[in-house]
Amino acid sequence: IIEPKTPLYNLLADAALWYQQALKEHPKRQLAIDYLKGRGLSGAIARDFALGFAPPGWDHLIQALGTDNDQQRLMLDAGLILENAETGRRYDRFRDRIVFPIRDQRGRVIAFGGRVLGDDKPKYLNSPESPVFHKGHELYGLYEARRFNRDLTEIMVVEGYMDVIALAQQGLRNAVAVLGTATTGKHIQCLFRTVPNILFCFDGDAAGREAAWRALEAALPHLEDGRRVRFLFLPEGEDPDSLVRQEGVEVFLARIQQQAQTLVEYCFKKLAEDVDLSLPEDRARYQKLLTPLIEQVPGPYLQELMRQRLTELTGLSAPSKSDISGSTSAPAP
Ligand code: ATP
Ligand code: MN
Ligand code: MN
Ligand code: MN
Repeated sequence: IIEPKTPLYNLLADAALWYQQALKEHPKRQLAIDYLKGRGLSGAIARDFALGFAPPGWDHLIQALGTDNDQQRLMLDAGLILENAETGRRYDRFRDRIVFPIRDQRGRVIAFGGRVLGDDKPKYLNSPESPVFHKGHELYGLYEARRFNRDLTEIMVVEGYMDVIALAQQGLRNAVAVLGTATTGKHIQCLFRTVPNILFCFDGDAAGREAAWRALEAALPHLEDGRRVRFLFLPEGEDPDSLVRQEGVEVFLARIQQQAQTLVEYCFKKLAEDVDLSLPEDRARYQKLLTPLIEQVPGPYLQELMRQRLTELTGLSAPSKSDISGSTSAPAP
């Protein structure tokens, strides 16, 4: 029996090879090569991530792989080509772009990202959802990170393809990217199946800080004892790619060591921003904001330590759930 998705996987693998080949020998490849070199990437790293090139033009991929109508239907399903609703004409989705194959944990190509070579918009284009590609589940670079090091203990989560690849170029082979979506519980589960420690390192801008808080919310329900989540906030305007190239890997690693804050630190600090803990009203508010977050933590020890920390700050001893039920059933004599 042939698994029904097999033709789709085969097609995507063929497309990845075709794009990769185009980066090596298409007559118009030079601008793409120059672009990647300009961003500090070596040929070896381009190979590790199977980077490719979609040449300018409307039908290179269709010409190469869309041999018959069945094959073209498959290309539509995979999001590799599009169809003009009025004329019915079919054309390549990725044109004149650097192409990043997205692989699943088994190394199968499931989708692509594409970046323009200059400043045109949209800067990035992704494959749409398909029978084999579900954005909220996949992490770009996870396959590559695991293949490089089977004994990873910490994975760094960043925003973009280029962040993952630039970090790898500098020897930091443990970065993955969420694909233009917020970090989901699925992402967190997948990461914790691989490593006990996660470090979020999003862009130093408002969107990056927003993404960090959402990652915290997604991570809380998965904080078993023994796991650790940290956050590194970058200087305004920087992302991991720009920063690691600017300051070098040693300084970047020192930055992580000195500035990364644990989820607990971040959470307590963030919610204290508009709070004056000398005021009873604000202490009550703080207690009210933090309690539901603490209750989501499944690790009993970590949850208890967070309660203790809150008590130190507000003076309120948050009764744990067992205390509450105990006090209603048996009044003191
Ligand atoms: P650059 O290549 O300029 O360094 P970047 O990797 O820093 O870009 P950001 O603009 O910070 O990219 O965006 C982070 C990630 O979000 C991108 O790598 C891409 O996955 C996704 N993204 C950004 N813009 C778009 C878009 N217009 N459509 C889909 N996804 C996007
Ligand atoms: Mn950004
Ligand atoms: Mn960038
Ligand atoms: Mn960025």
